[in-house]
Amino acid sequence: MGKILGGSGRLNYMAYVRGHIADYTNWFPDLEESVDKETSSLNVHCDNWYTDLSDAILNGAAELGQNVGNINRDLNIGFMKVELTSKDGERWSTDRLLHRDIEKLTVIANAHVNKVLLKEKKAVGVEFEKLGTQLKAFATKGVILCAGAVGTPKLLMLSGIGPRDHLKGLKIKVVQNLPVGQNLVDHILTGLDLVVLNTTLPLNILNVLNPLSAFNYFFHGKGPWTSAGIEVVGTLHSTKSNRKLDPPDIQLMVMPVGISQDGGIALRKIMGISDEVFRDYFSPLTHETAVSILPVLLHPKSSGEIRLQSSDPAAPPIIDPKYLSVQEDVEVLIDGIQFVKKLIRTRAMQKLGATLYTKHYPSCKEFSFDTSEYWECYVRHVTLTSYHPAGTCRIGSVVDEFFRVYSTENLYVVDASVLPVLPSGNINAVVVMCAEKAARLLINKKFLKQRSQCHMTDFIQYLFYASQVKN
Ligand SMILES: Cc1cc2nc3c(=O)[nH]c(=O)nc-3n(C[C@H](O)[C@H](O)[C@H](O)COP(=O)(O)OP(=O)(O)OC[C@H]3O[C@@H](n4cnc5c(N)ncnc54)[C@H](O)[C@@H]3O)c2cc1C
Repeated sequence: MGKILGGSGRLNYMAYVRGHIADYTNWFPDLEESVDKETSSLNVHCDNWYTDLSDAILNGAAELGQNVGNINRDLNIGFMKVELTSKDGERWSTDRLLHRDIEKLTVIANAHVNKVLLKEKKAVGVEFEKLGTQLKAFATKGVILCAGAVGTPKLLMLSGIGPRDHLKGLKIKVVQNLPVGQNLVDHILTGLDLVVLNTTLPLNILNVLNPLSAFNYFFHGKGPWTSAGIEVVGTLHSTKSNRKLDPPDIQLMVMPVGISQDGGIALRKIMGISDEVFRDYFSPLTHETAVSILPVLLHPKSSGEIRLQSSDPAAPPIIDPKYLSVQEDVEVLIDGIQFVKKLIRTRAMQKLGATLYTKHYPSCKEFSFDTSEYWECYVRHVTLTSYHPAGTCRIGSVVDEFFRVYSTENLYVVDASVLPVLPSGNINAVVVMCAEKAARLLINKKFLKQRSQCHMTDFIQYLFYASQVKN
């Protein structure tokens, strides 16, 4: 969670990916307009700095019959050099919009919101803490929560909006029974350092520390310092999906470095890999050119939940992602690894001397390498988040398509938690799309006025989701 103005978009890998058109079919009635126009606030840069690996991957994918082109523009399936949310080689994140309009805003930084203030079911403000002092901010028109897929459900539950039994168990007064925190989904990936090249790539520590790289960055906005790490993204269907009907279920994220490259100083810790495993499995690669061609599970069948561990706002919530709890998710990731094996055998990848790293993963030594049992064991040990948690206040369960929290008044949620399903790609562009759409809707006064009436659809939705929570 990016604890900084601009949130996680301020520290992410900057990949701008719009997903597949089939992802959005059931999201909004005005779908075409939403997907096409509502990321206009973002700055996207296409002409980035890439190593030779990116061309090799694209040529290799083409050899395997994959579509190579701008999959963002077509909202289609295939491989492309990644587009980044950047400007002149520099990160571009949405906080820049706050600076543009700063005189119209009051921004209170270093503040932690504890709960939403509700009068009956109407949001009238928030209670927050700053420098040890409890304060309140009152809203005349409404409260928009955007604390992310973990922070927003936590705040709603602390405010009494969530699964009734869970709240009662924590002695929180129930304001509205809704499946807040349920349906936590995330993109997970595997295949760390599974591919080794017998050539070197220019994104290494010497090149990065070269003063010319700094010069190129500061004076021309070019060179290795503009690299976000990801060079290519591609999507494909696994053997489990219906190629004609379904959006792609595997993404490949390609990075010209592996986690072994820094000798275990930083990346190992971020990824939660123990000293012992690093020493045994990853450290032999420290002086090799290991690269990351990572299969990502785009549409997990497994889903988890966010719960409170207490009614204390300072207590971290319980994040139980239940990754790989459905076997099919393991099988899709194994399909992704099988594709990587084919990719590295292509002529284009052979020019870089690509091979599979064949050392046994420490916990999987009892299985013969490259058997399905081995890969299942590998996937169950070497799978981790790609930091795309979503869905914990999803549209249709907790909020309607106008981002209004069901059965409440003047309370809105606009962040990754509302995504009804994960899109077929990295999710920041989609989160921004929702934000732009919400801004347009909320500025429309007619819409705000309508909310004071009760809709028949609210009642039907209530019955439907009340029965869901019960089940
Ligand atoms: C390391 C990393 C790499 C990523 N790479 C990419 C990428 O390359 N491409 C891509 O598309 N996506 C990427 N993502 C995902 C993407 O950045 C996030 O999905 C997106 O930023 C989520 O936006 P959000 O508004 O839902 O939440 P966030 O951006 O997380 O914003 C929530 C904000 O609310 C604040 N907050 C939470 N609770 C409270 C509280 N009680 N009081 C006050 N403030 C609170 C948080 O500190 C945070 O600033 C990455 C994410 C991470 C972490």
